[in-house]
Amino acid sequence: MSDKEALKRVAEKLRRAGASLPAPELTGTIEGSVVTGLCIALALVETEIEALADSMREVQRLGQDIEQERNFCPRCGKRTKDMTHIHTCTPPSTEGG
Ligand SMILES: [Zn+2]
Repeated sequence: MSDKEALKRVAEKLRRAGASLPAPELTGTIEGSVVTGLCIALALVETEIEALADSMREVQRLGQDIEQERNFCPRCGKRTKDMTHIHTCTPPSTEGG
């Protein structure tokens, strides 16, 4: 089970225990305070799930960047999109004649 799935389970359990977002109005009762506490916990868990989703997107984006860089030819500056085709190029001649 991934961290995200574990957190989603915790969020689900908090909801079953009475937590909801946005948190309900303060009632001033002990029961109300317990629900508020649960809501705060749920908010924290939801924030963490969101942060995990963001970091996963970041990893995917970095992966794409690396993939692109691998297709970059430093010799001619070309970026080949075709992964199966091996790019070959003639280096610019520096010799006169
Ligand atoms: Zn090239």
